[in-house]
Amino acid sequence: MGKIIAVANQKGGVGKTTSAINLAASLAALEYKTLLVDADPQANATSGIGYDPGDISKSIYECMVDGVNIDDIIVHSNIDYLDLVPSHIDLVGAEVEMINLPNREEKMREVLRAVADRYDYVIIDCSPSLGLITVNALTAANSVIIPVQCEYFALEGLGKLLNTIKIIQSRLNPQLEIEGILLTMYDVRLRLSNQVVEEVKLHFQQMVFDTIIPRNVKLSESPSFGLPAIMHDADSKGAISYLNLAREIAEKNAVLAK
Ligand code: ADP
Ligand code: MG
Repeated sequence: MGKIIAVANQKGGVGKTTSAINLAASLAALEYKTLLVDADPQANATSGIGYDPGDISKSIYECMVDGVNIDDIIVHSNIDYLDLVPSHIDLVGAEVEMINLPNREEKMREVLRAVADRYDYVIIDCSPSLGLITVNALTAANSVIIPVQCEYFALEGLGKLLNTIKIIQSRLNPQLEIEGILLTMYDVRLRLSNQVVEEVKLHFQQMVFDTIIPRNVKLSESPSFGLPAIMHDADSKGAISYLNLAREIAEKNAVLAK
């Protein structure tokens, strides 16, 4: 069965979507069958790999709430080995609709476990909240990647996120692990960036990925071409850093599987 990894941090703008898209595309480039799940009604991951959320009528939420078959929703992207479960903007109301459902925290797990055996990796891009959809993603996942931006207030909100993860581990998903803390938007020239790296490594030690994602314009402009950076400019620092992250994750999981 494929590994389900949620990319989560309730803070916006820390690089969740950029990481989800580019990690998924890099795993696919390494020929791992990968499913990218857009679990954010803002649908940035959907548009970032070239789909117009305006053309999308069904998303993971319809599977969770209305029992729609996920196979009717998965789209085969233009990238080999990469499929997408898209999202669209109208579905902000899904959380409200779900409140009265039985096992409302486990809906995404039911949906994704049914397809996870067809993939090597399932990567979930979470919304910037700790609401019910994100709780669903963390309940469905085997592990979580926490992007942390190398900026002021980098650690703000992390305590709350780690606490939420603990609660989910104790009540809903005992197997949930932290895949790693991912430092993003690192700028080697900035003292602040270097300070954040030091501080995060001091606090979280081996939980931090060796790979650090630099601030790179190819990463910020590639979504406007509907492409992951590896397709937009494979030689860019941004594309290479996510490929390194994919290798780091694949190697770690291969070692653990032995
Ligand atoms: P989130 O999903 O956590 O809200 P995004 O991935 O959308 O964060 O990133 C926020 C903004 O920062 C976007 O405009 C994105 O293009 C940009 N960005 C993210 N990572 C990088 C990076 N490594 N270098 C340059 N820009 C980045
Ligand atoms: Mg996002």
